[in-house]
Amino acid sequence: MPRYESNFNGTIILDATAISPPEQANRSYIRPDSRDALVDHLKGLRDRKETPERIVVVGGFSSFEFPQLHLAEEGDDLSTSRRELPSPRLLVDVSGMNRIIDVDNVSLTVTVEAGITYWDLANQLRAHGLAVANLSAYPEVTVGGASGTGTHGSGYARHGKNQADQFIALEIVDARGEVRRIVDPRLFTHLGVLGVVTAVTLHCIPMFFLKQTCYEYADLDAFDNLRIGAFQHLAETDDFYSTMIRVDLVDKRHHPLKCYIRRVAADENDREFQPTFLGADLVENVEGEEPQVFSGPYYDVLPDHTTASRKNVPAPGTYHQAEYFVDNKLASQAVHAFLSEADKDDSFIKALPTGLKCRFVSSDDQWMSSTASVDGVELYLALQLSLYGSRTEIAAILKRIEDCLSQHGIPFSCHWGKLCYGGHGSVNSKLRDRAKTMNATRVEFDPDGAFLDSDSELAKLFDH
Ligand SMILES: Cc1cc2nc3c(=O)[nH]c(=O)nc-3n(C[C@H](O)[C@H](O)[C@H](O)COP(=O)(O)OP(=O)(O)OC[C@H]3O[C@@H](n4cnc5c(N)ncnc54)[C@H](O)[C@@H]3O)c2cc1C
Repeated sequence: MPRYESNFNGTIILDATAISPPEQANRSYIRPDSRDALVDHLKGLRDRKETPERIVVVGGFSSFEFPQLHLAEEGDDLSTSRRELPSPRLLVDVSGMNRIIDVDNVSLTVTVEAGITYWDLANQLRAHGLAVANLSAYPEVTVGGASGTGTHGSGYARHGKNQADQFIALEIVDARGEVRRIVDPRLFTHLGVLGVVTAVTLHCIPMFFLKQTCYEYADLDAFDNLRIGAFQHLAETDDFYSTMIRVDLVDKRHHPLKCYIRRVAADENDREFQPTFLGADLVENVEGEEPQVFSGPYYDVLPDHTTASRKNVPAPGTYHQAEYFVDNKLASQAVHAFLSEADKDDSFIKALPTGLKCRFVSSDDQWMSSTASVDGVELYLALQLSLYGSRTEIAAILKRIEDCLSQHGIPFSCHWGKLCYGGHGSVNSKLRDRAKTMNATRVEFDPDGAFLDSDSELAKLFDH
């Protein structure tokens, strides 16, 4: 199946009959290899008065949700685990625009075509002695696509924010083929509605290496100590990079924890690992399993090596992700609320075999970021869920989580590129006031509404 016909694991598909090669039908697919090729195509359509009514852009096509679209269920119920992208008049696949345009070693900036993956960018920057400050757990996402959903780095850190926080400028091509430049950082979480992002300029830092350690705790009681301990550590040491806590769901009585700590390493051979942390010993790697204690270039350490998702490659359509953000001040209450619901039966254990992953994301100033500094939140706890099952099963779990957080009075938002139950527009309603401003910019950039589906959750938020 061509890459553009399905997202990374087949939970979102595109009706292949809906698209044809360019110029053969009024619904078409293009994979431009440069901004100018895209501009020529769109200007050609405009000159023929065929400017597309609906344009959909895919980057890495790894999202579980496209914020600006309403994805139709395939069939009458959710048991198939698959949804369809609404047929666009034009599907723009930016994965062919994947080069570094310019590296500036003096100002420590890089300009890239928006379809480059973070993996390729990180590897190529190394040749210049440079690095991006942070990566998500899945570096195959593109620079333009990750910023479309507010993708954040894989753990609380000095740089642990929405990745678009590293951006300096976006270049965008609108539906008529006109090129624009955006330097207002508040627009960098673009949600796919401003046009086709064709290039991005972003900050770099000098190349660095990381080492990951892992410590295991017998009881949930350690959670707050760990969380607070890790923060104190950041304040006290220069080499601390990030932390992640994984809560086991199987042992309902104790809920043992694993705490992953990442520190800056001297080089990739730095094997000096702290033997204990807050009373627990360093775990030992198990032959044949994902390493838990190791060092390497940051782009090898930051991808998620901790989940079973890589060991037990799931059947197409059965792997999903969801992620909720709560104020870190309410972290303990949120985790206890989550577990009080999870412990009621075994369905959470089945759907979440790798447990509950807790990460930490600093807030940012972008208008539509789910981790924006709204209501005075400085640091978010991210409840990250790697879910296995049909959409019926997953929807039931997500409903229970959202209901229990609400019942406990814990405000939450959700990741734009991942699943939620209550609808992204409602769950992210704290962004309502900002959405007005974002929508005004969207209308200016895309007056014909080619990039926004009026049935989408985002359109509902914009209309409020
Ligand atoms: C295994 C896995 C692990 C993940 N881990 C993390 C994580 O650690 N942290 C995190 O925050 N997220 C994580 N995600 C979510 C992921 O980062 C986001 O869904 C991200 O947006 C995907 O980027 P992409 O390049 O695949 O974009 P796509 O999925 O192709 O598109 C995302 C959105 O951006 C739009 N878009 C894409 N490219 C452009 C462009 N050039 N111009 C205009 N609009 C565009 C699309 O229309 C869509 O709305 C993970 C996802 C997976 C599958």
